[in-house]
Amino acid sequence: MSTPPPREHLPIRPIWLCRVDAHPWPCGAARVALLRQYDGDMIGLAVYLAGMLHDAAADLYALNPHEAPKPSALWDRFLAWLDVARRSQPR
Ligand SMILES: [Zn+2]
Repeated sequence: MSTPPPREHLPIRPIWLCRVDAHPWPCGAARVALLRQYDGDMIGLAVYLAGMLHDAAADLYALNPHEAPKPSALWDRFLAWLDVARRSQPR
């Protein structure tokens, strides 16, 4: 018997919650996976996340314009953590 592969922490669209743990995407596990996947290419990762932020904003506002997260909250959620991750990288 083989163990099933670990499930990837990907967003359920258009609600943008993690399909594994139901935390707002990118959840902690998704952030770790993305950092590993981009392997130090912080610019590439930032470009990817900016695109995801754009899609999430469009989806969430379309879903519920009155209760969609503020742009500043989406910025914190999608991109601000990268700065912390970048600063903690070894040089
Ligand atoms: Zn997750």
